[in-house]
Amino acid sequence: MQTGHRKIIIAIDGYSACGKSTLARALAKRLGYVHIDSGAMYRAVTLYVMRHHIDINDADEMAWALSKISIHLSFEHDQQVTWLNHENVEQAIREPSINEFVSNVSTLSAVRKEMVAQQRRMGLAKGIVMDGRDIGTVVFPEADLKLFIIADIDVRTERRWMELQAKGVNIALDEVKANLLLRDTIDSTREDSPLKQSVDATVIDTSYLTPKEQLQIALDLSRSIIGKI
Ligand code: C5P
Repeated sequence: MQTGHRKIIIAIDGYSACGKSTLARALAKRLGYVHIDSGAMYRAVTLYVMRHHIDINDADEMAWALSKISIHLSFEHDQQVTWLNHENVEQAIREPSINEFVSNVSTLSAVRKEMVAQQRRMGLAKGIVMDGRDIGTVVFPEADLKLFIIADIDVRTERRWMELQAKGVNIALDEVKANLLLRDTIDSTREDSPLKQSVDATVIDTSYLTPKEQLQIALDLSRSIIGKI
C-alpha cells in the first residue's frame, strides 16, 4: 500500500487475453488503488441485449435497452463483481456466448457513450487502474501512466483456454484462437474509439514474462511517476 502520495490514473489497454486484467488487479492491489475491468461493463450490456433479444442495429430498441440497464461494480476480496440491474452477473458475463457477441455490441456509439461517461466518473477520485481497449486514448487521455499490453497469439490462446478449462468450459483451442482474432479485428477496426496504441503508452510484451515480472515492470513505472508528483 502506497500512502502519503498524490494518486494517479493508470490506463492499461491491449488486445484480448494479453493479461491486462490480471496485471491491472495486481498493480492496483500493490498501490492500494481501485481496479476497474472496463470490459466487464461491455459484457454486462451484451448479456442484457442477448437475454432480451434486442436488435442491436435498431437504434430505438438499443436506446430503450440502455435506459433499462444499470451497471454497478463492487469489490470483494480485491475481486471486481459486476452487477446488472442488481443481479450478480460476474460468472454469466464470462460465458463463451458473450465472447461471441461482445465486440459487436461494443462497436455501438450509444453504448460507448454511456460506458465512457460512467468510467470517467469512476476516475474522478484518481487512485485507479482501469483496463480495456480505449482507456488511454478516449476515457482518460490525460492518464498519468499508459500501458499497452501485447502478447503472441498462441500464448494468449493457451492462457485463455486454460482459464476456461479451469472454469469447466469445454472448448477447442482453435475456437478460442478464432474468437480472440475476431474480437481483435472488430475492436481495432471499429469507427468509434478503435483499439490502438496511444502514442504516449509504454508497450509491455507479456508473452514470455511471468505475472510477477509484469507486475514489477508496471510497479517500477508507476512509482517513478508517483514519486514525481
Ligand atoms: O477485456 P474483455 O475481453 O473482457 O472485453 C470484452 C470486449 O469488450 C472487448 O473485446 C471489446 O469489444 C469490449 N471493450 C471495449 N472497450 C473497453 C473494454 C472492452 O470495447 N474499454
